[in-house]
Amino acid sequence: MNRLDIVAVIERYVPLKRAGSNYVACCPFHTEKSPSFTVSAAKQFYHCFGCGAHGTAIGFVMEYSGTGFIDAVKDLAQMAGMQVPEYQTERSAAKSAQGDDLAGALLKAARYYRTQLKEAPQAIEYLRKRGLSGEIAKEFGIGYAPEGWQNLQTALADCGPKAMIAAGLVIEAEGGKRYDRFRDRIMFPIVDQRGQIIGFGGRILERGEPKYLNSPETPLFEKGRELYGLYQARRAIREAKRALVVEGYMDVVALAQHGIGYAVATLGTATTPTHLQKLLRQTDEIVFCFDGDAAGRRAAWRALENSLDQLVDGKQLSFLFLPQGDDPDSYVRKSGKDAFEALFGQALPLSQYLIKELSSGVDLATPEGRAKLLEAARPLVKRISAPLLGLMLRKQLAQTAGVSQQELDAQFQVKPTSSAPAERSAPAARHSARPAAQRKAPTSILRSLIGWLMLHPQLARLAEREALADGREMSTLDQAELATLDRLLEAAQREETVVSWVEYFRGTEQEQLLRQIELALLTHEVADWSSQETEREFVDGWAQLCEQMRRGQLDLLTEKWARQKPTREDEERYRRLSQQKPHATQK
Ligand SMILES: [Zn+2]
Repeated sequence: MNRLDIVAVIERYVPLKRAGSNYVACCPFHTEKSPSFTVSAAKQFYHCFGCGAHGTAIGFVMEYSGTGFIDAVKDLAQMAGMQVPEYQTERSAAKSAQGDDLAGALLKAARYYRTQLKEAPQAIEYLRKRGLSGEIAKEFGIGYAPEGWQNLQTALADCGPKAMIAAGLVIEAEGGKRYDRFRDRIMFPIVDQRGQIIGFGGRILERGEPKYLNSPETPLFEKGRELYGLYQARRAIREAKRALVVEGYMDVVALAQHGIGYAVATLGTATTPTHLQKLLRQTDEIVFCFDGDAAGRRAAWRALENSLDQLVDGKQLSFLFLPQGDDPDSYVRKSGKDAFEALFGQALPLSQYLIKELSSGVDLATPEGRAKLLEAARPLVKRISAPLLGLMLRKQLAQTAGVSQQELDAQFQVKPTSSAPAERSAPAARHSARPAAQRKAPTSILRSLIGWLMLHPQLARLAEREALADGREMSTLDQAELATLDRLLEAAQREETVVSWVEYFRGTEQEQLLRQIELALLTHEVADWSSQETEREFVDGWAQLCEQMRRGQLDLLTEKWARQKPTREDEERYRRLSQQKPHATQK
């Protein structure tokens, strides 16, 4: 990524002014009147003297657009016109050309809808009755799709029917007749994190079906990835240190009108893990606010289920249910900002909500009822990857069900989590009788190493890739993680660009893994560490991994010899491994 100049990158988002050898601007990350945001071309670094935000070009894009590392790299590569010849397929090239056409059509449609709003008194009246000001309508780019079947085709004649159909603006019926998808509706543009329009939501003015109509999925618009209002909400989320997830776009806009700018909405889908990843990158606290009706409860439960494997200790998710018959829009209009925010005090933390919901259908006074509760909770609890939260939840569950936590852990087959650090410094393992579950190494070392390499590929020079061969037979190491680490080391050795290995993993299982790891990295703010600290951590992690592999190999050999006679090769290997100095860590 060295070819990217940080000044050029940031200038695309924030207008910069030259000041001596640096550039300055009003900080995009906090509200200020005089510029304290500085970009150094010499150091390829930005720093804000007001709020302390600082980092590299990639870091800036991540912060600014709220994308993860991988997406930021892709954006930057695209920006710089970098080619990724080795892995870029013809299909993805065709897709991006098509994407440009779609984006153009959507942008023109949005402009058209906005001008139409000015000429539609009934639509303006509708927004006014809902308490929305012209300013808010402008901020969210709200427009109006007039009645009639062929408006867009006339207004956007230069776009071409193909692009309009592909963008979901125009529908082609059997027989080739084409007509506008959105008619007589208030139009809410859906923008991605870069501010590019990728689709629309349309709400009917008075009565009619369907009440809400969204763009279909297109190459630009995937419902499970996008959140309505996130682009507008970024700064408010940062300032409030909280994001609010609601059900509809009217809720988002109404809340913003009343000074609650940190709300976002899913687009006619359940909250997906991708939604959560996006939000968790921006804030530590997410409040889900759904209607109190049956549909709202279902939506809340789906959100809970989809968040279990995204949870990270230190992040807080809670669930707020409004009084029956209210939605965020109606409630905030009636009661105002303060009353609405006061409701957060009644929100149920995820753990409480989970137990409450599972207990609601069973009779906790009977052993059968309590057993049922545990039975229902088991698959959910096992999906929680955050160790502390998992522990606290199991404690609470055990209490509710009237068993001890040890009994519950045994039932749930939860692996003890505390054994790792003590074992690490112990001399080479001579006892091989421990059950495999207990020897299962904490995967965090592999994951940390992968994370360090993602951020700083140059660290690869501190590792010997060949050493990883020792870990290939070990069931105690996650083989997918091991293979990912191996691939990253290879990429670094071959001096591949970051772009090229990000492309390499695209669409594979490992891409998911990398995304999880990058999320963990962000929450620990390691991206800000000095290079010395980073190197020390990496070397330390590498030594731990080597030591784990060395001891794992010894264990494997001893286990094998319990069943069969050792071969000469094995003996040789055992001697080699046991004579190796334990890989000391620096702590
Ligand atoms: Zn700042």
